[in-house]
Amino acid sequence: MSEAPSSGTPYPYDAPASQALFDRAAAVTPGGVNSPVRAFRAVGGTPRFMVSGTGPYLTDADGREYVDLVCSWGPMILGHSHPEVIAAVQDAVSRGTSFGTPGEGEVALAEEIVARIEPVDQVRLVSSGTEATMSAIRLARGFTQRSKVIKFAGCYHGHVDSLLAAAGSGVATFALPDTPGVTGAQAGDTIVLPYNDLESVHEAFHRYPGEIACVITEASPGNMGVVPPLAGFNEGLKDACRKNGALFISDEVMTGFRTSRAGWYGIDGVKPDLMTFGKVMGGGFPAAAFGGRADVMAHLAPAGPVYQAGTLSGNPVATAAGLAQLRLLDEAAYDKVNEVSETLQSLVTGALTKEGVAHRLQNASNMFSVFFTDREVRNYEDAKRQESFRFTAFFHSMLAQGVYLPPSSFESWFVSTAHDEQAVQRIADALPAAARAAAEATAA
Ligand code: PLP
Repeated sequence: MSEAPSSGTPYPYDAPASQALFDRAAAVTPGGVNSPVRAFRAVGGTPRFMVSGTGPYLTDADGREYVDLVCSWGPMILGHSHPEVIAAVQDAVSRGTSFGTPGEGEVALAEEIVARIEPVDQVRLVSSGTEATMSAIRLARGFTQRSKVIKFAGCYHGHVDSLLAAAGSGVATFALPDTPGVTGAQAGDTIVLPYNDLESVHEAFHRYPGEIACVITEASPGNMGVVPPLAGFNEGLKDACRKNGALFISDEVMTGFRTSRAGWYGIDGVKPDLMTFGKVMGGGFPAAAFGGRADVMAHLAPAGPVYQAGTLSGNPVATAAGLAQLRLLDEAAYDKVNEVSETLQSLVTGALTKEGVAHRLQNASNMFSVFFTDREVRNYEDAKRQESFRFTAFFHSMLAQGVYLPPSSFESWFVSTAHDEQAVQRIADALPAAARAAAEATAA
C-alpha cells in the first residue's frame, strides 16, 4: 500500500487497477517506481499507472481519463501521440532501432539545435538530462583545470553526484551531500548558494580565487516550483564568470525549446558558455544534449582529452522523434502554448482567490506553478515556507475530478498545444471544488 500523505488529508483509493500494479511493482522495484516523484509520496494515495495518452489526455489502468498538466514533466509540448511525431518514429523504427554508428538523424537534430540557439556552436547528444549536466561539468573542469562548482539551492540538475548537494546553503559553504552514497569528496567541491543572490556569488569567487570551474544554474528554475531569475541575475552570473575565468553553464533541460523557440535564452538573451538540453528535444524519447562555445567543445573526446561517450547516444528513433517535434514547434505553436498557460493561470488564481486561499502564481513563460503562500518566492527557502498541505488537498480534488497535476508542490505545471477548449473547460470545472478543498485543508 502507498503511504498516507503527511498532511493526513483524506484521499480516495479509487484506482484499483493502478493499486494492483503498484503492489506488483513494489515487489520488484524499490518503492514501486523508476523515478521517486512518481510514487506520490508528497501527496499520498495511489500513483496512477497510465496506459495511453492522446492529445491533452492520459488514460489510466482503470480506464479513467485525465487532462494532463504534467506532460511527462515537460517533453510532451505537442500533446500525446502527435500524429507527425508518431509517423516519424514509426518510419525510423522500420529501419532499425540502434546501430552504434553515426547516422544522419543525429546530425540533423544537432543542426536544428545549433540553428535555434545562438550561443551553441557545437553540441553533443546524450540520453538524459543528468548525463548532459554531468558531462558539461566535467568539460568545464577539464577546460578550466579547476575543480569547484557553484550551484544554487533548489536548482535540480539531475542526479549527478556532485550536484546532489543543496544542503548547507549560505555564503560559500561547502555542501553536505543530500543523499547517502554521495561522498563528502564528491560534494566537497560543490558550493551551494541561495538562488537569486548575486552577492553570495561574488563572495564565493572572492573566497576561492582561481578555484571555481563553473557556475551552473537552471536558466529559469522549475524544480522548486517556478522561481524565475530576478532581473539581471543571469547577466550577473555571466559577468562574474567572465571576470573570474570560470564558465557559465545554463541548464535548459526543462526550459529549452519550451519557454520559447530558443528556450530561456530566447527570452533573456544572456549568453552562456555551455548549455544543457533534454525533455522537449527528445519528443518523449531519451535524448538530451550539451553544447556551447566551439573552443570549449573542442576539448571533448575524440577532438580533445575530456572523455565522454554513450552506447545509445544519438539513437535513431529518439533523434527522429525529437527532430519531428522541434520542426513542428514554430512561433504559432509557442503562441498557442503561452495562451493556454495564461488562461489556466487566471482560472487557477480566480478560483483560489474566490475561496480566500493565500497563494502566489509564478510563471516563466508558459511554465507555471502555484505556491500556497502570499509572499513572493525568490529562492528555495521561500518556496519551503508555503502551506504544502493545501496543495495536497487541491491535488487530490483535481485528481478525483480527472485532472492530473504534478504530485508535488515543488514542481512546474506543463501544458501543450493540444490543450484545447474542451480540456481547458474540464480544468475550469474542477477548480472550484479543488480551491474549496485547499481552503478547508488543515495542517496535520
Ligand atoms: N536539469 C533540469 C533543469 C531538470 O529539470 C532535469 C530533470 O527534471 C534534469 C536536469 C535531469 O534530466 P533527466 O531527468 O533527463 O536526467
